[in-house]
Amino acid sequence: MKQSSFKKPVANVPQEAVVRQCLMCRDRFESTWHGERICKRCKSTAAWREG
Ligand SMILES: [Zn+2]
Repeated sequence: MKQSSFKKPVANVPQEAVVRQCLMCRDRFESTWHGERICKRCKSTAAWREG
């Protein structure tokens, strides 16, 4: 019989939600990490990507 050991993913990662201003629509949104500067709505439009 094979023993399977699976690790639990870390569930309780302390995340500070910071309210930022979206670079696209200038609307305020909660960014979950410091590099997030576009709100989810604008991200879904996919027009924010560089290149
Ligand atoms: Zn936006």
